Amino acid sequence: MGDHFLDADIRDWSPSTWRSKPIKQAVKYEDQAGFGRAIQQLERLPPLVTPQEIVKLKNSLREVALGNAFLLQGGDCAELFDYCEQGMIESKVKLLLQMSLVLVYGAKKKVVRIARTAGQYAKPRSSPVETINGITMPSFRGDILNSYEPTPEARKPDPSRLVEAYFHSAATLNYLRAAISSGLADMHSPLDWGLGHVLDPIVKDKYQKIVHTITEWLEMMQTIGVSTGGGLETVELFTSHEGLLLEYEQPLTRLCKHPPNVLPTTSNPQSPRLNGHLLPSCSFPSFGYYNTSTHFLWIGDRTRQLTHAHVEFFRGLSNPIGVKVGPTMPASDLAPLLDILNPYREIGKITLITRYGCDKIATHLPSHIEAVKQSGHIVVWQCDPMHGNGRNADITSATTEKSSPPTTTTIKTRHFTDILSELQQALQIHKAHSSYLGGVHLELTGDAVTECVGGAGGLKEEDLSLNYTTFCDPRLNEKQALELAFLVAGFYRG
Ligand code: PEP
Ligand code: MN
Repeated sequence: MGDHFLDADIRDWSPSTWRSKPIKQAVKYEDQAGFGRAIQQLERLPPLVTPQEIVKLKNSLREVALGNAFLLQGGDCAELFDYCEQGMIESKVKLLLQMSLVLVYGAKKKVVRIARTAGQYAKPRSSPVETINGITMPSFRGDILNSYEPTPEARKPDPSRLVEAYFHSAATLNYLRAAISSGLADMHSPLDWGLGHVLDPIVKDKYQKIVHTITEWLEMMQTIGVSTGGGLETVELFTSHEGLLLEYEQPLTRLCKHPPNVLPTTSNPQSPRLNGHLLPSCSFPSFGYYNTSTHFLWIGDRTRQLTHAHVEFFRGLSNPIGVKVGPTMPASDLAPLLDILNPYREIGKITLITRYGCDKIATHLPSHIEAVKQSGHIVVWQCDPMHGNGRNADITSATTEKSSPPTTTTIKTRHFTDILSELQQALQIHKAHSSYLGGVHLELTGDAVTECVGGAGGLKEEDLSLNYTTFCDPRLNEKQALELAFLVAGFYRG
């Protein structure tokens, strides 16, 4: 491949240049021969998604950045290989679809849907080790890396899990595609809105009115025939995961000819820049590197250092990408970060996923919005109201031995009111700064778990042990997630 096909900036980049940079959350495989075999296999396996699909999402996110659409992204914190199962996949798709209908109603805009699925297998951890039953062992880092089983042996990084992750992603994606194209998400079929859990009669009445309006609207569309070829029978759903384990992401990143739906450079009003300097003007290259493991990837809050490996890897990708932005992000890092990750200033290529916590957002978001405005970049602003709002709860469970006292364990939870408060503040702050909050990023599941406190069902701390099944962060259950969508819809409608 001649260099002239690629732009100046990418000529000194390849999918492996991240290896010469410092890296956080590094992995050390003891079994180097097994690691080599796994990488060779991943390099041969076919792409999971195509550049056409990736560019389609990038073009949709451009509309979000410009204020013409809304982005809903959600799924598990840590997806397990075990979640690759019909019922769990279906319930997640249905929930995202239902939430998106409520958001269409609220924001009166097209909703772009991205699931955290089919590859959300790697987790960053605050501590590399933990002590369980008096034994210190490596922390669980996601199914792609090690096992949850609490023994030092099972917690060692196992390279065969890299290939297993690929096949579980492929099976999940295959069923997602097949189920959607077979009408799982057909909006003509009645959806089960199940509002029986809503305790407050006024709230219940309000939700029922919204459901009634949406149902009528769907029926009307069908009657007047808007659905003929109009896409009501099916929906678009994209996939995403945190691009944390670069050993996995690298072999699935492939040089591809840009597909015909790629937008020409003329649509980008600004010239490319790096570190604030104008790059020599050059036309948009004909080829680009696409990470074909998923449509959208993000850099986590722990791995977004400007000079480190993750930013180096991501700067070469043609995919739309996200960056988590927490309270430790200096406002002065935002412009250089955006210049590095998006030298062509493609509108909507970058999604800034803010996650400060309900008591910190007011201190940080205004200066972050202003810094991005000054940089001239046009991004998607998405609020993740989950990751800054973690709390600990003590749960007490009786032991089987009558004579021994009940045991108390500390588990992670989140309060619905904190989540809602961060979202509401995000909306208000963006409005006050003439900026557009384009989306939400949630940890949720289609199942009836009890991991977050609050919501219209009145879940309390003492209920958490009923069905607490997460292997990482606490998720909204299907009712809490839908309720959040109703409330956000209400904010937009004023
Ligand atoms: C996550 O999204 O699960 C996560 C670890 O987020 P953050 O990087 O914002 O902590
Ligand atoms: Mn999480």
